[in-house]
Amino acid sequence: MNPKESSHHVRIAIIGAGFGGIGIAARLVESGERNFLILEKNAGVGGTWWLNRYPGCACDVPSNLYSFSFAPEPNWSQRFAPRTEIQAYLDRCVDRFELNRHLRLNCDVAKIQWDESRRYWHIADNNDQHLTADFVISAIGGLSRPAWPDIPGLDTFGGRVIHSQHWDDTEDLHNQHVAVVGTGASAVQLVPNIVDQVRQLDIYQRTPNWILPRSDRAISPLRQTLYQRLPWLQKLARFSSWCAAELRVPGLMWSNRLAWGHRLLARLHLRRQISDPELRSKLKPGYAIGCKRVLLASDYYPAMMRNNVELVTCPIKSILRDAIIDKNDRQRRADTLILATGFRATEPVPAGMILGCEGQDLHQAWQTGPQAYRGSCVAGFPNLFMLLGPNTALGHNSVIVMIEAQIEYTLSALQHLRKNGFDRIEADTDAQRRYNEKLQSKLTKSVWNNGGCGSWYLHHTSGLNTTLWPGFTWQYQKMMKHFEPQDFKLT
Ligand code: NAP
Repeated sequence: MNPKESSHHVRIAIIGAGFGGIGIAARLVESGERNFLILEKNAGVGGTWWLNRYPGCACDVPSNLYSFSFAPEPNWSQRFAPRTEIQAYLDRCVDRFELNRHLRLNCDVAKIQWDESRRYWHIADNNDQHLTADFVISAIGGLSRPAWPDIPGLDTFGGRVIHSQHWDDTEDLHNQHVAVVGTGASAVQLVPNIVDQVRQLDIYQRTPNWILPRSDRAISPLRQTLYQRLPWLQKLARFSSWCAAELRVPGLMWSNRLAWGHRLLARLHLRRQISDPELRSKLKPGYAIGCKRVLLASDYYPAMMRNNVELVTCPIKSILRDAIIDKNDRQRRADTLILATGFRATEPVPAGMILGCEGQDLHQAWQTGPQAYRGSCVAGFPNLFMLLGPNTALGHNSVIVMIEAQIEYTLSALQHLRKNGFDRIEADTDAQRRYNEKLQSKLTKSVWNNGGCGSWYLHHTSGLNTTLWPGFTWQYQKMMKHFEPQDFKLT
């Protein structure tokens, strides 16, 4: 039998059932495609929103904008929805587009390998289940691999060690001495939500962040009804949130002076919420605003002022069985260690997971930083599309906008192949090089590259910014509207 006709062969395999995987699956269904499977390693859909369950986990992008434009949700309870609502929204999308029949849960893809002679991908999961697919769409996300800090003695710690991504709903921190390492987007949400439970909370800060007030508010039942009855009104609200976010680009890309409004607001926020000048100076960032992701929090600074909280700015020297020692040799007791230390964003693909032409390992190919053509396709890796690939994350707007642009681009590529009878597509090496040279030259002037900070946006060895899109999202949307066959090898 032709292997392509076996039950273990699909036209399209999607890896990951987060926003990317569900989004493209929904659009495939709408376009009439039924021959696809979504392979998801977790026991449920949601991706990052399934995994990150720490107390206070929510989105810091307005929910109207942090949801699919083709599946608006009129009933968000808050301007910034909590994790549980986002999870429920994605569950509803699965039902609405009847994706359950295409979904394979607990399927952790370990390896995919391109077979040039047969022109398809071999896919193997961790349970040794095998599948083949003409096309693979990687929707694994950029922030799925947790970063564990390299601190001496971490492996000898006797208490519980929890990475923010692996929060267990049954964690009980009552009366404990808790140490939080890291003060990024996850920590500022988590800290205010555990401070009441714990006896002592020591927060180990390496670099202070710029923090703006989080202007959250409940969405009234009247507004929800209006959104249900008058969908154009919700579209208008989405559009205005999108425009407001786009206005941040000049301060990030052209001149940081243009970000004076946010800088002033952040300084006033710090001054208003922290009365102690010594604590305030510890929390004051010494680099350009926007260089690291700007955080939104209205309850983080007040948590810092609590009697049971200490902000430790002296670097960590080592970890003992029941304590942390700083570089001044001061020892602080710790029963539980929370690592809010982020993700390996510049190494999104593990070694040996994606093997392209002649067995080339994508992890190896990306040693000096991930690179792709339009963040979507990589030379040497035929019939592979990516969602939220290199340089398509954002420092200023909703990534769902970028994901949707990539979804439509992938659909037009697949349509082009079908229409013209091609069964193999691969990004042209020169087109990819030219694209990345232009992109990197734009980035050299940005605040992310010049703002005087280190961040997960920059590759740890090459220093290249391989994560962010350098500009307005409308520029990316415009570029992705056109599939240019001359930039590919089509067979
Ligand atoms: P992060 O922003 O990368 O922050 C990691 C923190 O850990 C930083 O403060 C970092 O310090 C610190 N750190 C790392 N290694 C350390 C070490 N060895 N010793 C001491 N401190 C160490 O990670 P995150 O907070 O998990 O957020 C990551 C991204 O996830 C965000 O930027 C955002 O895109 C996304 N996120 C989004 C939301 C949302 O609401 N939409 C919520 C959470 C997360 P340095 O700053 O000095 O490196």
